[in-house]
Amino acid sequence: MSTPPFNYCYHCGRTPLTLVSDRQCRCEACGYSQFVTPTPAAVALVLDQENRLLLMRRAHEPGKGRLGLPGGIIEPMETAELSCAREVLEETGVDLPASAYRYMGTLCNRYPFQGYVWPTLDILFVARTGSLDKARAVDGEASEIVIQPLREVMLEELAFPTHTEAVRRLLASL
Ligand SMILES: [Zn+2]
Repeated sequence: MSTPPFNYCYHCGRTPLTLVSDRQCRCEACGYSQFVTPTPAAVALVLDQENRLLLMRRAHEPGKGRLGLPGGIIEPMETAELSCAREVLEETGVDLPASAYRYMGTLCNRYPFQGYVWPTLDILFVARTGSLDKARAVDGEASEIVIQPLREVMLEELAFPTHTEAVRRLLASL
C-alpha cells in the first residue's frame, strides 16, 4: 500500500499527502493527518429449519460469479443488526426483524473500492427463519440466490476469506 487513498488535504486542500503508515496520511504543507479507519460492515448468516444457508451469487466485482453472504456497509445512525435486516431484505427478499440477528463475532477484511483497498470490519450475525423458499435476487447485487445445506457449502466458492471463516465458525458452533 504505497499510494494514499486521499488526493488532497481535507484541511488546506494542498497536495501531496504522505502515507506515514497503513492508516495515516499526512499533509506536508500544514501537518494535518487524515486516517484510514476500518469501515464497519454487517454480514448475515441466515439458516432455515433444516440448517440450509442463504447465499447469493455475486453479480458484481469484487468476487463476481462467486458465492457470498448477504450484507454490506453500515449506514449512518444504523445499528449493525438493523443493517443486517436491511441488507438481507434488499438483496434476497428475506424479511426478518433486526432482533432475529444474533452477534457471532468480527473478522477483519479488505475491500477494493474506487481505486483503494479499504480496511473493513465484518460484524457477523446469525439468524434463523422457518423457510427460505421465498428468497430471490432482488436489487441486482446477486445474479441468483443459492440455498445450500450448511455442511455442504463449497467453501472454495466463497468470494471472501472472511465469509469462508464465518461459515467455518458457524459449522463449529452447531
Ligand atoms: Zn494540509
